Amino acid sequence: MQQTIRCSVSNCNYYGEGNYCQADAIVVHSDSAGHDNGMEQVTSSVTNNEVQSSANKSSETCCETFRPKY
Ligand code: SF4
Repeated sequence: MQQTIRCSVSNCNYYGEGNYCQADAIVVHSDSAGHDNGMEQVTSSVTNNEVQSSANKSSETCCETFRPKY
């Protein structure tokens, strides 16, 4: 099955240009703080390729599959 994952974490090893994740599968956990801070707006900014972000470890993202780029 073809899948498309949009993600703004540009320093992830799996991050692809245009906010496309290149991983075959990802693991995501809930982030209740995100829902309290306008998550719908964040999601549309990611899919419109308007935002990029960075993180140091997977616990700083909602994605357990995050691996920093070398
Ligand atoms: S953080 Fe997760 S969803 Fe984003 S590019 Fe990395 S593996 Fe993909």
